[in-house]
Amino acid sequence: MSKINELQEIIDYSDNIVFFGGAGVSTESGIPDFRSESGIFKSLEKYGDTPENLVSHSYYLDHTEEFFEYYKDNLVFKDAKPNPAHLKLAELEKKGKLKAIITQNIDGLHQKAGSKEVLELHGSIHRNYCQICGKEYGLEYVLESEGIPRCECGGTVKPDVVLYEEPLNNAVLSFATDYISSADTLIIGGTSLVVYPAAGLVNYFKGDNLVLINKSETPYDRLATLVINDAIGETLSQIKI
Ligand code: ZN
Repeated sequence: MSKINELQEIIDYSDNIVFFGGAGVSTESGIPDFRSESGIFKSLEKYGDTPENLVSHSYYLDHTEEFFEYYKDNLVFKDAKPNPAHLKLAELEKKGKLKAIITQNIDGLHQKAGSKEVLELHGSIHRNYCQICGKEYGLEYVLESEGIPRCECGGTVKPDVVLYEEPLNNAVLSFATDYISSADTLIIGGTSLVVYPAAGLVNYFKGDNLVLINKSETPYDRLATLVINDAIGETLSQIKI
């Protein structure tokens, strides 16, 4: 049986699927993988700093203007569209088979594809809050601001994106572990599973089928029911619902 047929069978017999996705889910939408060689890290050279520094909480505090310049140019892809992976996952949710998507991406493409239960571990570029009064602003407001986006009260409007040195949102993490520990099938896609908290979350899974879809190997391959080394959109587009 081909690997796609195996995946089809697993999905056919599951009604409590949870999907956990990383940067690889959005690369087919033209959003570069933050950590890959050809990705965003390479584009940092002109800023003369390391990537971890540029998207860290301390850099945000000390060099707020440069942070926003970098952020708008390299972390926001406002014209990106959902790819077949996002669309298929939304369809699986609509059919009642998929219960939640847990993502490390900040691009909001799952919601754009129609998914409802999306847990964003690293936040979203679409939510932005004034650090003084808490007023919420959309993405357009941030992109259209010259330099540092300011609230009408004068406070800085900060993207609701988890920067280096910042903790993850505990409520989101706790929902994620609840979904994973009660799932019968966990599909992990587009992540090499080496970055916190991805690796830790997998350990909560107690269900029957652990499916890994990633272009390269991951440390969890030997634990998986099924490993597919291919692009996630390419793979999921072949599944029939
Ligand atoms: Zn304000």
